[in-house]
Amino acid sequence: MNARLVLVLNSGSSSLKYQLLDMADERRLSFGLVERIGERGPGRLTHTPAAGERRERELPVPDHAAALRAAADELAADGHGLDSPELAAVGHRVVHGGRRFTAPTLVDDGVEAEIERLVPLAPLHNPANLAGIRTARALNPGLPQVAVFDTAFHTTIPDHAACYAIDADTAAEHRIRRYGFHGTSHAFVSRRTAELLGREPAEVNVITLHLGNGASAAAVAGGRCVDTSMGLTPLEGLVMGTRSGDVDPAVVFHLSRVAGMSVGEIDELLNSRSGLLGLCGDNDMREVVRRMDEGDPRARLAFDVYIHRLRSYLGAYFALLGRVDAVAFTAGVGENATRVRTAAVSGLDGWGLAVDERLNTAPGRGPRIISPEYARCAVAVVPTDEELEIAIQAFALVGS
Ligand code: ADP
Repeated sequence: MNARLVLVLNSGSSSLKYQLLDMADERRLSFGLVERIGERGPGRLTHTPAAGERRERELPVPDHAAALRAAADELAADGHGLDSPELAAVGHRVVHGGRRFTAPTLVDDGVEAEIERLVPLAPLHNPANLAGIRTARALNPGLPQVAVFDTAFHTTIPDHAACYAIDADTAAEHRIRRYGFHGTSHAFVSRRTAELLGREPAEVNVITLHLGNGASAAAVAGGRCVDTSMGLTPLEGLVMGTRSGDVDPAVVFHLSRVAGMSVGEIDELLNSRSGLLGLCGDNDMREVVRRMDEGDPRARLAFDVYIHRLRSYLGAYFALLGRVDAVAFTAGVGENATRVRTAAVSGLDGWGLAVDERLNTAPGRGPRIISPEYARCAVAVVPTDEELEIAIQAFALVGS
């Protein structure tokens, strides 16, 4: 029997998301979520099998090992345990691969140690990702484990776009540069956009706009990323649900000196109480648009700040790429918020950019073009699927 299944694991600090995919037709078979790992009280597991009822239960999950064992039990009950001969690999989402990991990588002890060395750059994420890797390796040492890095797609960004203009020795000592995130999504969406245009990725220049709770833009030239809006951390760039995106770094010194806030408090302010939430009290774009339409001035301002920043990046990436074949919207806001798409490109006919409102507002789920036929640059909606991309990359590497 051919090994054609891939289990994708996304371990967060207190949760484990998993998906089992059949790579023969890139179909999701089952998926689940274990929550409240390491917290007080019982954890919770939700498992949705390929066929049959969703299963939910409470259980003790003191650590990631317990969570993965519980998930493996559920998969085994469906006939696809971690020891199944049909399983080709486990694909692990790893947030930070630094400059070292430029592609999906088969995990061994050395790779584990390297991911550990990168923990200071992603203190919340890499330890959880590592816990998932270690547990999966222990549960089935013979099964290939593939690490797929959020940063890898961005390692082609040239130094002049990746370097901050700060003291070079300090930057080198502390590995301070722009790494970018959401790389698996930008890779997937830029490739699917080329497919949608009926062309090879190497032939097209695409601007991908991943607008979810977190948001980032990427400029992709011939399949290679040349710039992205997130930087050393996912805080830089676009206005997000709760993150500020770009601010003058002196805001931090000012808040420290004038408001007496600690570094931890400012971190929390910029990451969790800023963005749309900070501007108007709502981080859900649906609410922001609804309130704006009712005449709420704070919601109007939040929307306008969001769009202003988005257009600034769009313009910057047009200048970087020279020729743009498509602008692709993806993730929760990008795939659903018709108003954001309209506002992002309005008045840019001179650049060959326009949205056909009938296409923009037509219901649809798959990849689709929403620009008029005459437009020089296609505007597209391309749903992202980070789990599928991780599975595709892992499966390609183990070469089943
Ligand atoms: P995450 O970054 O957490 O993966 P998603 O990509 O799922 O987030 O995006 C979540 C966001 O998508 C929500 O906060 C919401 O603002 C937005 N969203 C979802 N559906 C719609 C919709 N129909 N219209 C506007 N915004 C939407």
